Amino acid sequence: MKKTICLLPGDGIGPEIIAQGVKVLEATAEKFGHEFVFETALIGGAAIDGAGDPLPEATVSKCRSADAIYLGAVGGPKWDKLSPEMRPEKGLLRIRKELGLFANLRPAMLLPELAGACLLRADIAAKGLDLMVVRELTGDVYFGEPRGIETRDGLRTGYNTMIYNEEEIRRIAWVAFEAARKRRSKVCSVEKSNVLESSRLWKEVVMEMHREYADVELSHMYVDNAAMQLVRDPSQFDVILTGNIFGDILSDEASVITGSLGMLPSASTGASGPGLFEPIHGSAPDIAGRDVANPLATILSAAMMLRLSFDMAEEADQIEKAVRKALADGFRTADIMEPGKEMLGCKGMGDKVVERL
Ligand code: NAD
Repeated sequence: MKKTICLLPGDGIGPEIIAQGVKVLEATAEKFGHEFVFETALIGGAAIDGAGDPLPEATVSKCRSADAIYLGAVGGPKWDKLSPEMRPEKGLLRIRKELGLFANLRPAMLLPELAGACLLRADIAAKGLDLMVVRELTGDVYFGEPRGIETRDGLRTGYNTMIYNEEEIRRIAWVAFEAARKRRSKVCSVEKSNVLESSRLWKEVVMEMHREYADVELSHMYVDNAAMQLVRDPSQFDVILTGNIFGDILSDEASVITGSLGMLPSASTGASGPGLFEPIHGSAPDIAGRDVANPLATILSAAMMLRLSFDMAEEADQIEKAVRKALADGFRTADIMEPGKEMLGCKGMGDKVVERL
């Protein structure tokens, strides 16, 4: 199969980690007889320096014509003093908007090889943690109108609007049900329908959608309980379906309990067109250019790309297995280093994954 992948290495450790991901994709293509064509474009600080805009038009058009987008990270102290519109992060927000990427998928998985890094009690961690948060990304209280700060009855008053229409709920529910079918076929819809009207509609629409997905088990949970259950017994979750603000908080909670930021991939997808795949961490300017960054979150993001955008489940499994094998064989980058293991740099870890493919 021939696929075009638009690379957006970005800033800081971005180029280093994307280089390792590309190496792994090339090895996968060779092994399975595919052809991956890579196009590179500017985003973030690199685009500000190179083209005077954190998201140049040329980048948007390269992304649109690709089958998938593979992003490193953007940002760094060099651009911190620029106006909000010219900040590197604006490039990322704009590409998500341009491509209508309304669904954010964040798996959080505790690899047995890294059980020591988990922030949970050993008996809870032993039950396993392998879930995916499907978060709506372009609606909810973050975008709802009206919003503002004004004086009411002599008091400064701030307000936002929590709002979802049925179509927005339907399309994100569809993503969650489809994702569940490729996993353990369980969706837990998280909302606050005991107090919020937008959540009541959310629950109603999710239940309607479920009629088309009778093979997927659906449950409902209030967000306060979900936050608690995530640390009490995360093994009960497969796919968590939720709105923008609840998802923002829960996806961070779910990822941090695994204990290793450098290990966690993510995907953002829309109704059609290319999806965007990136590690959840930032550009780590403190370690950039020193070949010490952990490339595994980026490599695992490539596996998500193959599984979700290219329907290459076997290829994705092989990449994930190669990552686990490298860890099982005792190789670590500095951020996940443990006594008795062999420490490698970014490139060295990429090589170990390629060897195991
Ligand atoms: P960060 O995720 O870049 O770094 C936090 C800490 O984790 C740092 O100590 C860093 O060295 C470490 N770290 C991160 N990724 C690592 C990896 N792969 N291997 C080893 N260690 C790793 O977050 P930050 O420091 O808050 O932000 C730095 C810059 O990144 C800022 O400009 C911020 O706006 C940007 N940022 C970008 C994205 C993105 O592009 N999606 C996301 C978050 C932050």
